[in-house]
Amino acid sequence: MMSPKINIIQAKSIFIKSGLPGSDWVINLYNGCLFGCMYCYAAQIARWKHPGEDWSSYLDVKINAADLLKLELEKLEKKLGKKNFGSVFFSSVTDPYVGLETKYQLTRKCLKALVEFDYQFYKNRPG
Ligand code: SF4
Repeated sequence: MMSPKINIIQAKSIFIKSGLPGSDWVINLYNGCLFGCMYCYAAQIARWKHPGEDWSSYLDVKINAADLLKLELEKLEKKLGKKNFGSVFFSSVTDPYVGLETKYQLTRKCLKALVEFDYQFYKNRPG
């Protein structure tokens, strides 16, 4: 088996409005997933950035994710005047603890960014 191709990229946005039921926002820190599970739905819908490549053969690492998240949260706070924008789904089309998370720690850094921002969803959760 060939080694996967690891691409360090700069994301343009990270805190994305979700179209999925049960979540208001979605954060995907990587494109692709090295686990390559056979049953993965993401392999079918999220491969458009890497046409023709095997699902587990690449990983785009959104290296600026945490800094970008901080900026986007601050921008939304200014716009909406609050610190609760709804529920957040980590990794709808990748795995938040894909192996290289030990090196890049993007999930950890983004969770920390939400804590430091004092994101309010779980404090003021409806119902
Ligand atoms: S995103 Fe989840 S289901 Fe899909 S390959 Fe990765 S670990 Fe498996």
